[in-house]
Amino acid sequence: MLQQVNGHSSGSAAHSGESLREDLQEFLGGEAPLQQLDDLTKVNPVTLETVLRCLQARYTADTFYTNAGCTLVAMNPFKPVPQLYSPELMQEYHAASQPQTLKPHIFTVGEQTYRNVKSLMEPVNQSIVVSGESGAGKTWTSRCLMKFYAVVAASPTSWESHKVAERIEQRILNSNPVMEAFGNACTLRNNNSSRFGKFIQLQLNGAQQMTGAAVQTYLLEKTRVACQAPSERNFHIFYQIYKGAHAEERVRWCLPEGATFSWLPRPERTLEEDCFEVTREAMLHLGIDAPTQNNIFQALAGLLHLGNTQFADSGNEAQPCPLVDDAQCSVGTSALLLGLPEDHLLETLRIRTIRAGRGRQVFRKPCSQAECDTRRDCLAKLVYARLFDWLVSVINSSICAAPDSWTTFIGLLDVYGFESFPNNSLEQLCINYANEKLQQHFVAHYLRAQQEEYAVEGLEWSFVSYQDNQPCLDLIEGSPVSICSLINEECRLNRPSSAAQLQTRIESALTGHPRLGRDRLSPEPSFIVLHYAGPVRYCTRGLVEKNKDPVPPELTRLLQQSQDPLLKVLFPADPEEKSQEEPSGQNRTPVLTVVSKFKASLEQLLQVLHGTTPHYIRCIKPNSQAQAQIFHREEVLSQLEACGLVETIHISAAGFPIRVSHRNFVERYELLRRLRPATTPGHHGLYPDGGRSEHPPCTEPATLQGLLQEILHALPAPLHCGRTKVFMTDSTLELLERGRAQVLEQCARHIQRGWRRHRCRTQARRRRAAVLIQAAVRSWLTRKHVQRLHAAATVIKRAWREWRIRMAFLASEELDGVEEKHSSQAPCSPSSSPLPLAQTGLQGAITRLWPLGLALANAAVGVHGFQRKLVVFACLQLPVGSPRSCAIQTAQEQAGVLSIRALPQGSIRFHCRKSPLRYADTCPGPSPDSVTGFNQILLERHRPGHV
Ligand code: ADP
Ligand code: MG
Repeated sequence: MLQQVNGHSSGSAAHSGESLREDLQEFLGGEAPLQQLDDLTKVNPVTLETVLRCLQARYTADTFYTNAGCTLVAMNPFKPVPQLYSPELMQEYHAASQPQTLKPHIFTVGEQTYRNVKSLMEPVNQSIVVSGESGAGKTWTSRCLMKFYAVVAASPTSWESHKVAERIEQRILNSNPVMEAFGNACTLRNNNSSRFGKFIQLQLNGAQQMTGAAVQTYLLEKTRVACQAPSERNFHIFYQIYKGAHAEERVRWCLPEGATFSWLPRPERTLEEDCFEVTREAMLHLGIDAPTQNNIFQALAGLLHLGNTQFADSGNEAQPCPLVDDAQCSVGTSALLLGLPEDHLLETLRIRTIRAGRGRQVFRKPCSQAECDTRRDCLAKLVYARLFDWLVSVINSSICAAPDSWTTFIGLLDVYGFESFPNNSLEQLCINYANEKLQQHFVAHYLRAQQEEYAVEGLEWSFVSYQDNQPCLDLIEGSPVSICSLINEECRLNRPSSAAQLQTRIESALTGHPRLGRDRLSPEPSFIVLHYAGPVRYCTRGLVEKNKDPVPPELTRLLQQSQDPLLKVLFPADPEEKSQEEPSGQNRTPVLTVVSKFKASLEQLLQVLHGTTPHYIRCIKPNSQAQAQIFHREEVLSQLEACGLVETIHISAAGFPIRVSHRNFVERYELLRRLRPATTPGHHGLYPDGGRSEHPPCTEPATLQGLLQEILHALPAPLHCGRTKVFMTDSTLELLERGRAQVLEQCARHIQRGWRRHRCRTQARRRRAAVLIQAAVRSWLTRKHVQRLHAAATVIKRAWREWRIRMAFLASEELDGVEEKHSSQAPCSPSSSPLPLAQTGLQGAITRLWPLGLALANAAVGVHGFQRKLVVFACLQLPVGSPRSCAIQTAQEQAGVLSIRALPQGSIRFHCRKSPLRYADTCPGPSPDSVTGFNQILLERHRPGHV
């Protein structure tokens, strides 16, 4: 990128030279390169030269914003830097936890004010004073801030309120082109110079959403309508209509292409501000419809034609001044466009009516040529000023919220900067007076109040000497004698005033004043005021007239008779007004001079500012040619001097801008005691008088002091403790806040840890309890089961015993018969009596037989034939291998069981017979009623509900 420093072209070679210099500087000084210093308080040492070098280095590196303690310095880039104002960047600053840690920007100031409003700490209302020379970027900065608030002060959740905020935002932004078209003009210093002061109040509701806005304007430079300095222009709107009107409109407004107007100098020069369509569009959005717009532009065209009404000298006092060549046509057109009767207009411009005598008789006196010109100019100024005020009221009614719908506000003051031209008049006196007032507000709020507070709090402090501009203000507005009072008095005396006379009066009345100077070489009668920003020479010629701003009553009466709908609104017939505008010599009502009106509105503004937390943005113009990348050291230096930036930096660097009462400090930072190291060598807090405790710092309870002491002991940051307040720097505050965040984080971790531990313990306890309950239930179930098995076994045992007894009985009965048969066939030896033997075998067989019964009953379904036999064999413990030796006859397959018995006398033959227990052959399935004994047990086991 091609860069220029001080107007010298610098290609890559220059750039590499620059970087080499930076490297060298870094190597030798071990300090960060100047362009990296975000805060001018870090420049070492703080002198005009070092501050200037730092700003230049940053400007060259395309860094346009720099902090200067409590003030933000904004260098005008004089080129579009869209990425610097993108919505994404706005969001970044809005979302940042600490916007101060981001790069310096107007959004930091915007966000800070917004957060202050949110915090509801007194004073809740905020104001941003944007100051600087004409063309330094004040209006641009205010515009960007408004866009920023429009983005951040809208509800992200509520669609309805978002819409309202968007509408308000659009209207506020639309008010800009309209006010700039009517109130800005191209001057020697700035193509878009605001010729009025503007205080915009952005109104916020309880949820800090923008609900409306109000605009207050100050001192429109209305003389510009009729009189433009060489190489300057009239208000933009005249050029916009002249260049942007459609053919049909040109006819309607009598503005033929190429027409020349004496009040429209330099029409050939085209500026980007000459955009008629933008103004029209914005007016439409503000509720000014097309017919009203047409009416406005027609009246303005009428004023242009009025400007072409030139008078010649009549040469006879009794005769009205004649018009120059084609002026008659201009008067006619002007009268037509303003809805006035032509002859009446001409008569009012040329003839003065005087009421005199007891009967208030009316005398008509032809005016001189100069008087005619003055009356003409006065008429134009009157119409334009009323039109401007009406526009402001329309804008306000369009953007202002209902009084109960907003609670807080952020004020943006975009006020004309300090001005010094070769010839300065009343306008410059008022503008520079306003700048002095604002400077004093800054000094009073920031510097003097701070130093006085240190003294009251008993802090040891090497006071920085600052340039207090109170003497200058005393010279301009003081009482009983000051420049303003003298000019006002001249107006009240209502005598023909001479410039030299006024100069003499000022010099003699204020002789010896340190801020009053005199230019003895000047041919023009003048006086010099040594302003804080430099000396300015004011010409006394026309000063009294301008201050009087006399409006001949005939002019007002004339305009009240207009048939034009707009002029009817601007000049309603009002009898009170009539009496007010009588010349002061003819009635005794005190004259409201321009200076006294301006002073009153300024006091009002300062009262508003005093009730807010002020923030300052100092705009600096790097060159007067409005060229990008050019840094004129001398011009910047004079601006730095003018705004007392070095003093501000000195105090910011050495002082303690943050002041917190003991109670608030303890409340907020009490938790920092946790940071206290095990061994504290001594506290860093400095008490007044070097920490000697002979003065109890305040009458707060001892506990508060004790806590305060403990906190101060625990802190690693240097801060000073006054009698009632704790003083600290921004960096200390940052440190404290970081410590607080750290402690809070620790606490949060402790809480989390405790909660997790508690949760784990609870879970473990629950798990153990669940296991216990499960074990208990299982053991209970098992016990139940075992009990049931026991019961079943008992039943089985009982049944088995009964069955065995019965079988034994049956067997014995059966065997009784066999025995009888045997004994009859073969007598036995008494030693080997077969009966007991058979009986024993039977007993054994029977004993083994019951499992057989069980086995058969329980045998898996489908086990038949040989397998079944095997089962039986296994149950009976018979050898399977010799089928010959034993043959089992099972009639089971055919007809139930049966009894199986071994034959007596050790024979391994079994005799199976149908058991007397079996149920009837005919019965297909077991009948519960018919089932008895062993079979019953088996059946019970097979019953579905059996456990
Ligand atoms: P002031 O209100 O102080 O008289 P302006 O705000 O009208 O000055 O700025 C003058 C010109 O400087 C603007 O028209 C614009 O072209 C340019 N300018 C100012 N600030 C910036 C900026 N931040 N970025 C780009 N251009 C700027
Ligand atoms: Mg401006």
